[in-house]
Amino acid sequence: MQTGKTVMKSFSRPLRFVFATLTLVAGVSAARADCGPEALGVSRTLTISRTKATAVGLQTYPRTLDLAVHEVVLTFDDGPAASTPKVLDALAKECAKATFFIIGHNAEAMPHLVKRTAAEGHAIGHHSWSHPDHTLRLMDEAKAKADIEKGIVATTKAAGGESAPFFRFPGFADTPALVADLNARGYTVFGSDVWASDWKEMTPKAELDLILSRLDKIGRGIVLFHDNKAQTAGMLGEFLRELKKRGYRLVHLVPGDGETPVVAAGPEWTSTTEPIIAKTLAPKKPAVKKPATEKPAVSGEHAPPAVESE
Ligand SMILES: [Zn+2]
Repeated sequence: MQTGKTVMKSFSRPLRFVFATLTLVAGVSAARADCGPEALGVSRTLTISRTKATAVGLQTYPRTLDLAVHEVVLTFDDGPAASTPKVLDALAKECAKATFFIIGHNAEAMPHLVKRTAAEGHAIGHHSWSHPDHTLRLMDEAKAKADIEKGIVATTKAAGGESAPFFRFPGFADTPALVADLNARGYTVFGSDVWASDWKEMTPKAELDLILSRLDKIGRGIVLFHDNKAQTAGMLGEFLRELKKRGYRLVHLVPGDGETPVVAAGPEWTSTTEPIIAKTLAPKKPAVKKPATEKPAVSGEHAPPAVESE
């Protein structure tokens, strides 16, 4: 998927270097304080531009972050939730840092978990207020923008007043207008390069094997998990230890100035998420007419998530 890539943009090296060095020093201090040399830790930070925002992640966009072989970025969606503390514990044990794409109404319900996530040095990103099943794409544009904004406000408040200008669309169901609006406001939109399919029920061991085999195939990238999934919390410690064992290095995202280092996909690139979105958002076939004696369907019963991947 990453063959034939080219570096699209240069970036302000001196600024980025200073910021990265400062952040790295802080990260290394924490690692020295809490973790032995066998811990995964953070190998470097990567600055995401606040002034020239873009959209990255090859499963949805034809470009991704310029990562070296064996460099990975960890991301978690849909929290905070009951399983989030276990995820944070696993990350802390390895002095690993991640980006959390948080649902606003969850943040409002469990602000202590958002505060803890921020306090432990993770990036606080945004994932809408309501995570609507019918997606932001199918919503009236003004309502979609309001949902995005409400989520940003709630999550930032829960985090203690600061968050990162990072956004991931629920179900990856974006629109060009919403992406452009977010970018204009300095928000980089994140897809992913590889996911654990943790929306499907499986054992932690099965999920571990699946994500490791997928990651080994592409060798680097933005990894998507969901911290509201107990099976993910259950496999994360082992996953981080395996990353270290297999020679992967962790890259932590921080907002900053300059330009985001990105690479373009090759000419063979196609979206992974669009066919899934098209399938799941396709109008449902009319139901077969039920005999008059049969009970009506339970009203208010939730349909499965509109987009399987989220
Ligand atoms: Zn989601």
